[in-house]
Amino acid sequence: MDDKLQPAKLYSARWVVPIAGTAFEDGAVAVAGRVIVGVGSRAEVEAQFPSAAREDFGAAAIIPGLVNCHSHLELTAMRGYLEDVEGDFFAWLRKLTVARMTRMSADDLRVSATWGALEAARAGVTCLGDACSAGEASMHALRDVGLRGIVYQEAIHPDERVAAEMLSKLKSDVTRLRELENELVRVGVSPHAPYTLSEKLLVGVAAYAREEKLPLMIHAAESADEDELLKHGRGAFAESLAGRGIEWRSPRMSPIQYLSTRGVLTARTLLAHCVRVDALDIETIREARAAVAHCPKSNLKLSHGHAPLSNMSELTRGFGSDSVASNNTCDMLEEARFATLLARLAQGDAASGEIYNAHQALNDATRGGARALGYVENFGALKAGREADLAIVKLDGAHQIPVYDPAHALIFSSSARDVALTMVAGREVYRHGKVLTVDEERLRARMAEVRKKVTSDE
Ligand SMILES: [Zn+2]
Repeated sequence: MDDKLQPAKLYSARWVVPIAGTAFEDGAVAVAGRVIVGVGSRAEVEAQFPSAAREDFGAAAIIPGLVNCHSHLELTAMRGYLEDVEGDFFAWLRKLTVARMTRMSADDLRVSATWGALEAARAGVTCLGDACSAGEASMHALRDVGLRGIVYQEAIHPDERVAAEMLSKLKSDVTRLRELENELVRVGVSPHAPYTLSEKLLVGVAAYAREEKLPLMIHAAESADEDELLKHGRGAFAESLAGRGIEWRSPRMSPIQYLSTRGVLTARTLLAHCVRVDALDIETIREARAAVAHCPKSNLKLSHGHAPLSNMSELTRGFGSDSVASNNTCDMLEEARFATLLARLAQGDAASGEIYNAHQALNDATRGGARALGYVENFGALKAGREADLAIVKLDGAHQIPVYDPAHALIFSSSARDVALTMVAGREVYRHGKVLTVDEERLRARMAEVRKKVTSDE
């Protein structure tokens, strides 16, 4: 049936923050089928849909669904597991890889990913850009919980002698994952990072993504070790590659310039991190129309620094949690708060009134994230005709009142735990403490089993 002919339901609250326009009080959003059919004052929307069912959320804000542009759902079981090696990024990656590859079964990875998706639903997140080695786990997780997203299947190997084999493995992985696509969940590719692929594999994956029109996500310009390897051919990553007998020729340029000259930026590319980028790199990203997933909490936790957000105003950008192994939560309101505070730290006294503000942060956490993932006009703003992806956040906690401006209260006082309702394409997936789509208690019991396996043989 046409969505407009389906019975509408009205969700009202003290505030509506549509992102597509200015926030207003005493508002309502009408949803029919998958789409938003009305946004306005409660009186207006009620008059427009007189026979619609109604539900009022009181002192709360209705906002577009939050978008997590960069996650690794399959690693949810690693939350809190890698704290002892956080001072050494290389040891961190190695400990993570050993546990994931040798101790977790395919079903464990699926449970881990589903728990991550469940956490996201509870946090008002309606869409994710998820990079993973076990693509099926992530596809099933998003589908089972009822979230929207792009699952970027990873390709990773620094030795060019196996580049052709790795590329054909990626192609067969993608072909298999496409069977699991639905209206909400799509497949993309993720060449892991500039330093974990041979140039041959990197170029091959980018060409494949362009040919097949697959969105591409890559970690880029994240750590000092990456910078050292790419610019000078030295440092911890260089030593490790040499130690493994792998010849990896440094391009002697920044990670962003390397990706640009190898055709990696023009495949609907999303760059996770971009901590170490200069003015030329930012201009290169803009010209290529690539997007940035800013992951402030992960970058801080791994001591990588932070992306120069205030110099990225012309870039398409959103926020990412990265894996909860380096965060440790999927909480996009908190991510936006960290981004805002860090942008102000970098702006310092030179701000001259032009500081990065809560309205910009909320935009980047919703519409910006949707655009960064390549969804241009589908969702990310509350507007008639858009897909009904929204979250309702309570604003009556002791930590929130009084509220003068809902954007300020959301960014500076609120967290994932204040979310009361999450809706994706018109379907409620979370409401008042309960995820409606999966059996949370069964998953909780399975997570306890997975936790034991992760630390076995240590
Ligand atoms: Zn990542």
